[in-house]
Amino acid sequence: MLSKSSIKDLSSILTSKNILISKEECYCYAQDSTNTRKPTKIPNAVVFVESIKDIQNVLKYANSNHISIVSRGAGTNMVGACTCQENSIVMNFSKMNKILEFDPINMSMKVQPGVVVDDIKKIAESKGLYFPPDPSNFKVSTIGGGIAQASGGAKSFKYGTIKDYILSLTLVLADGTIMKTGAGTVKDAVGYHLSQLMVGSEGTLAVIAEAELKLIPKPEANALITAYFDSMSDAVKGVNSIIESRVFPSTIDFMDKNAINTVENFCPSGLIREKDCMLLIEIEDFAYGLENQAIKIKNALKGSSASNVNIVFDNEQKERIWIARRASYAAVTQLAPDVVTDDIIVPRSSLADMVDACRIICEKYKLKTCFVGHVGDGNIHPQIALNLDDEKEFRNYMDAKAEIYDMVTNLGGTISAEHGIGIEKIDYIKDTLDDVAIEYMKRIKKTFDPNNILNPGKIFRI
Ligand SMILES: Cc1cc2nc3c(=O)[nH]c(=O)nc-3n(C[C@H](O)[C@H](O)[C@H](O)COP(=O)(O)OP(=O)(O)OC[C@H]3O[C@@H](n4cnc5c(N)ncnc54)[C@H](O)[C@@H]3O)c2cc1C
Repeated sequence: MLSKSSIKDLSSILTSKNILISKEECYCYAQDSTNTRKPTKIPNAVVFVESIKDIQNVLKYANSNHISIVSRGAGTNMVGACTCQENSIVMNFSKMNKILEFDPINMSMKVQPGVVVDDIKKIAESKGLYFPPDPSNFKVSTIGGGIAQASGGAKSFKYGTIKDYILSLTLVLADGTIMKTGAGTVKDAVGYHLSQLMVGSEGTLAVIAEAELKLIPKPEANALITAYFDSMSDAVKGVNSIIESRVFPSTIDFMDKNAINTVENFCPSGLIREKDCMLLIEIEDFAYGLENQAIKIKNALKGSSASNVNIVFDNEQKERIWIARRASYAAVTQLAPDVVTDDIIVPRSSLADMVDACRIICEKYKLKTCFVGHVGDGNIHPQIALNLDDEKEFRNYMDAKAEIYDMVTNLGGTISAEHGIGIEKIDYIKDTLDDVAIEYMKRIKKTFDPNNILNPGKIFRI
């Protein structure tokens, strides 16, 4: 609980409707989308900020009283990044959800941190522009959370991730100082790129108060090609052939047999159950010439032992298939009380080996696992159905996870492509990052946040 005097202090900073202090209300902000057994604390208070001034005032107060601040967008991260590890105030941005400027000529948009990614996409598209980053929950996740969590998505293969669309940021530092990073221009060679330092910072360095984003022209049309394979290594060979044929798909996703069957049991979508895996390949371009590209892909795949190759132009049919792909996480929740998912990444040439190794490890530990992911990027999402309250199953999961991460490192990859570290992967970063790099990250943290009030206990232990 916050002391009476702290509550009085907060009430002098924000209007009472923007402060929650009851245990019941604060409890709603004790968790994010992470399935975990790790203990977390109920926040002492939740504050809803409405302006940069509000953010400054709360941070100044928290910094001088050594109270932790946990920034929170939609709370959809899967690594415990916005849980409270100690007495904390949660800073919620749902009331800072305005588009501040939209400049179609210069292809940019300035937004507040609580704007939902889907709103950015829709407004850009109203003028023929495009904001491609698409974490699969973009209909609810916020841009502030996306930047802080280095979010990716299915279209990263062609368009990159949220980090590639930041022109400038307005930050509020731990002591309430405002810092502007970047010039807002497409090119910028002036000094260190501090905007990029915020990518993946998980609310530990500063609060993102505004973001100016880059937009690009929206491709005129798109098509989806689906294909089935007898093994992951055949699927990867198929992807290599597509790239050799000089077509540049925006998305090259996969679902394995377990994922296909789990989804088909949950929401029948007409996917073929018998094959080892399927690829979902999206191309986006001018309408003219799109069919040629689709045929090139079909031919490339046929030469790589693909079967049932299908080109889909019809919007309804495409959406039905994408819904099936995006439903995989929800479908896996039908298999056991809990689902834990991961986001490991390896070079694409090692993806098939990595999936095969994960399958062997999960089988060894008797874990029901579905695999989906982004072949183009080498990014795999094992989705493991289990009962976290079952001690043996939990131990098996932890052992399997450690073995999977060992394999990732051996294959030249890393333990998070797009979900971040939070508290869930904190014990593993020493095995994946260089010691000197970790040491310098800690020094950066101390420079930005000497009192360690910003989301303490995330990414690494100080
Ligand atoms: C069903 C599902 C599917 C998902 N699919 C994807 C996917 O395809 N790709 C992907 O990359 N991720 C995915 N995620 C993970 C997650 O949704 C993303 O990381 C998302 O971008 C987080 O946004 P959020 O608004 O929920 O942030 P939150 O979870 O609220 O916060 C994330 C981090 O950002 C910090 N933060 C939030 N706002 C600010 C701010 N204004 N200033 C400073 N720090 C801030 C928080 O402290 C926390 O550390 C998925 C999650 C779910 C539940």
